Amino acid sequence: MITRTAPSWHTEDWQILLSGSIRCPEALWKRLELPLDSLPAGLKGHQAFPLRVPEPYLDKILPGRLDDPLLRQVIPVAAETDQVAGYVADPLGELGSNPQSGLLHKYHSRVLLVLSGACAINCRYCFRRHFPYEDNRLSTAEFAQVETYLREHPEVNEVILSGGDPLVVSNARLANLLNIIEKVPTVRRLRIHTRVPVVIPQRIDAGLLEILGNTRLDTVLVTHSNHPRELDSVFDAAMGALRQAGVHLLNQAVLLRGVNDDGQVLVALSERLFHSGILPYYLHLLDPVAGAHHFDVPEAEARALMAHLHRYLPGFLIPRLVREISGKPGKTLIDLHLS
Ligand SMILES: *Cc1c(COP(=O)(O)O)cnc(C)c1O
Ligand code: SF4
Repeated sequence: MITRTAPSWHTEDWQILLSGSIRCPEALWKRLELPLDSLPAGLKGHQAFPLRVPEPYLDKILPGRLDDPLLRQVIPVAAETDQVAGYVADPLGELGSNPQSGLLHKYHSRVLLVLSGACAINCRYCFRRHFPYEDNRLSTAEFAQVETYLREHPEVNEVILSGGDPLVVSNARLANLLNIIEKVPTVRRLRIHTRVPVVIPQRIDAGLLEILGNTRLDTVLVTHSNHPRELDSVFDAAMGALRQAGVHLLNQAVLLRGVNDDGQVLVALSERLFHSGILPYYLHLLDPVAGAHHFDVPEAEARALMAHLHRYLPGFLIPRLVREISGKPGKTLIDLHLS
């Protein structure tokens, strides 16, 4: 057991961290003590999905290391503009399951709400990097339509807040939305998929803990961490506080070339997550989104990595290896052929 002190962060703390993110590649290179002539070519061409790294994440990147697995997740490279067969703008065909603005109903019992188009960090492998957020974000005026939709679809028992990242919005907006969801008796669970606690753990402030601690909904927060070095004692404190508020914690990772395509790193990630009070949930194969082909790990290699995990970890620390296939009613589990 680790001792935890309850976080006493204020809203201003994370909002300052959020707005103060590094966006300039040259500034990032200076900060990481990397030679400017090693800046990847083609950086200027990424205005549509720019570099964005908040301070607490920046702190965890090792200086002087071009191959740092955390740096690799955030730095735009020339390979992003390659045209590769099979890599498309909307790999999951999400635009077809979009009954109303900001609401995706692609799984039978669950709906996804897109609260914000923004994220605290821009991950280069992101499957939504070309998603037309401006047309598909839920405005406060549309919250009432969400209630109508949920009442007309009693098969939906879980509401998933997704994004962008749902935790870049204010506590007031979250509370407002939760009040509406809670009015629909057929909804039992709230799930929040977010990378914010990994990159700005200070987001788990007193106001958010109060909202999640007081809702009648069973709550699950799914963190998105891909590498054990992303997790530190500040993160542990935030996760400890969430658990005390009765929130279940899971993690979803993406298998990424040059980041976590290594048996030891994946074992260490599971162990480190558990230390923070989190169970590994999914290990995702990369969605074939245009601009991310350099992160791809072939399925055969992914299976070999899973065999490694089965050898070195207890069952409860082994994530499910999955792929999302457009049009399927849920994720597709990859058959491991373990002998
Ligand atoms: C897969 C996924 C979900 C929902 O799928 P489950 O199989 O119910 O866990 C929600 N949000 C994101 C970001 C996902 O990748
Ligand atoms: S936090 Fe998630 S949604 Fe946002 S850029 Fe990263 S992978 Fe994409």
